[in-house]
Amino acid sequence: MKLAEHLASPNVAALSHSNKLDDIRLSPHFTLGEMTKTSTGLPNVPNEAQVKNLIRLCSWLEMLRDEWNRRYGGSDAPAPSNSPKGEDDGDPIIVTSGFRSPAVNKAVGGVSTSNHLTGCAADIRVAGFKEALRKAVILLDISDESGEDFDELLIEHNRRGSYWIHFAVRPPTQGNRRKVRFIYA
Ligand SMILES: [Zn+2]
Repeated sequence: MKLAEHLASPNVAALSHSNKLDDIRLSPHFTLGEMTKTSTGLPNVPNEAQVKNLIRLCSWLEMLRDEWNRRYGGSDAPAPSNSPKGEDDGDPIIVTSGFRSPAVNKAVGGVSTSNHLTGCAADIRVAGFKEALRKAVILLDISDESGEDFDELLIEHNRRGSYWIHFAVRPPTQGNRRKVRFIYA
């Protein structure tokens, strides 16, 4: 496509692959790219309200990161490729799925009411059941100590024995249910 034509018809798919957008920081350790990544190849660009929800969620992920490192940090695990260059301030929190457009959510088998659709949910990687419990406890403690509510704190696992945490925070006006569950996905 010629440049003029491209400029005349900017599309969402092109935007979603812009490195510039991906590099936008939503909090000190989380970028828009990390919170919108998808292996489906489908467009996955949040609107302004959804980005605001992601920013709220990332503030919880930062608190989780701080507290995880205070309690359990100092592991000898190699730094993952997504840790900021030149920084060595602890273990990262890895998000495997954050915001999902309706097309992405459908492709990955998400439910139609998923908090991922509004940018309110993130799936957090854990090494196993013990790490899932420890991270879940930290999130509960953060909620108790801050007085801030969350919507969902789910420890999920699948038939392959993989565990992850699905954590969601909605805008206060939409009601946060403090739903805590084990889920077999
Ligand atoms: Zn999830």
